[in-house]
Amino acid sequence: MNTTDITPARGLEALRAALAGQVFVPGEAGYDQARQAWNLAVDQRPAVVVEAGSATDVAPAVRFARAQGMRIAPQGTGHGAGPLEPLDGAMLLRMTRLRTVHIDPAARTARAEAGALWQDVIVPAAEHGLAALAGNSPNVGVAGYILGGGLGWLARRYGLAANSVTAAELVTPDGDLVRADAGHEPDLFWAVRGGGGIGVVTALEMRLYPVGELYAGNLFFPIQRAAEVMHAWRAWTDTVPDEVSSQGRLVRLPPAPQLPEALRGRAFVKVEAAYLGNPGTGAELMKPLRRLRPELDTFATIPPPALSRLHMDPDQPMPFQGASAFLSDFPAAAIDALVRLAGPDANTPLASVEVGHMGGALARPAPNGGAQPRIDANYLLTAVGAITAPDLAGPVRAHVKAVKDALGPWHAGYDYYNFAETPAPASAVLPPAAYRRLQQIKSAYDPDQMIISAHPVWPARP
Ligand SMILES: Cc1cc2nc3c(=O)[nH]c(=O)nc-3n(C[C@H](O)[C@H](O)[C@H](O)COP(=O)(O)OP(=O)(O)OC[C@H]3O[C@@H](n4cnc5c(N)ncnc54)[C@H](O)[C@@H]3O)c2cc1C
Repeated sequence: MNTTDITPARGLEALRAALAGQVFVPGEAGYDQARQAWNLAVDQRPAVVVEAGSATDVAPAVRFARAQGMRIAPQGTGHGAGPLEPLDGAMLLRMTRLRTVHIDPAARTARAEAGALWQDVIVPAAEHGLAALAGNSPNVGVAGYILGGGLGWLARRYGLAANSVTAAELVTPDGDLVRADAGHEPDLFWAVRGGGGIGVVTALEMRLYPVGELYAGNLFFPIQRAAEVMHAWRAWTDTVPDEVSSQGRLVRLPPAPQLPEALRGRAFVKVEAAYLGNPGTGAELMKPLRRLRPELDTFATIPPPALSRLHMDPDQPMPFQGASAFLSDFPAAAIDALVRLAGPDANTPLASVEVGHMGGALARPAPNGGAQPRIDANYLLTAVGAITAPDLAGPVRAHVKAVKDALGPWHAGYDYYNFAETPAPASAVLPPAAYRRLQQIKSAYDPDQMIISAHPVWPARP
């Protein structure tokens, strides 16, 4: 399609006629459903929603937006809608219908269209004994997760998911479909691997890893034991190999019927861990924490797709607010501060306050890596609360901030891109050198700031 085909006067009708997908504007049936993000706390009100029906819809949609002077917010599920700036006057370009995934078992790669969810990749990959670097939820989108880095259960062994990407297909803000890989468009290839969206990604290709045995599970302890268990978990993380990824968490579970009765409506301190290896060694590695006699121990041999259930994230869309901070360390004083704010004596509306163990492959620069070549931190703090009633929004925000502030002395200087749920520039969620290179790339490819990404990059001044 030629941009001159679409003039402001004929705009929408011509766009509709050109697309396999659908177009919605405010007031039309379908608009409210099409604009709804997975995070129900976010009320996005774009001037137009385009639901791409095929990858070939993306270029005409981008050219339409350019012709109209509209900015574009590409979106898959909307799990990451929290930090987005208001979409007034903008096009929300939804990729949710593009879910085709192709697994190449011989090459050990996957090609996922930009609307694919992780479950679309991990289930067919496992049929070939392969695992993708997915995270805590099978329903999170592959594209958004990878554009923000992608921290999953195999991260200490294989690094961020972004650094296993081998190619991206994307439509530039000029409306050109390009392939970015090791031999083409080096700047775009670098940027999509953890630097957010410079264009609209239509597909990603990534390496898969042979994963035979996995030993993983949860140890639940009553929250009254928060200090003891968090200190023990922290000490244990110094002893484990890269094949072990884990988190120490303080959780308050809802009285939800889908939870086992023994867990419903209760608060726990828990350790979640996954070991990439045989169950005998896994059980040996877990011994020091099991000796603490958890109330419930779910460790078992599991297939790779079951990793995405380990963290017990909600399946259905929900309203939530969260924040994160990379920590250079998580010493005794930091643990005590956390337990004061989220432990047994805390009056907190937060559902989960957790600390993840970084290091391993995450600490080493990925060969030819992208915008997040390594994680320059040893731990990751994440705090999140459900906003199940409007009057909870303020308290949840305040408590999330209080937890983050309390661990300020150990802040590694930036937050995790994918867990920064409030508006923040990309400079707050990327290392400084990466941000500076992104600014140059943004100046070259998107000087007019057409693409609205989760965390904005302001073009470098000449
Ligand atoms: C329940 C839950 C569990 C999570 N678990 C993990 C985890 O284990 N590890 C982890 O790293 N993160 C995790 N996250 C965070 C998640 O990775 C981010 O929210 C991520 O942005 C989600 O990607 P998405 O495509 O589903 O969301 P979206 O909101 O659709 O996308 C997020 C952003 O990505 C960009 N984007 C998406 N698609 C495109 C595209 N096609 N082209 C260009 N830009 C695009 C846009 O800037 C968009 O605003 C979790 C989030 C939730 C809510």
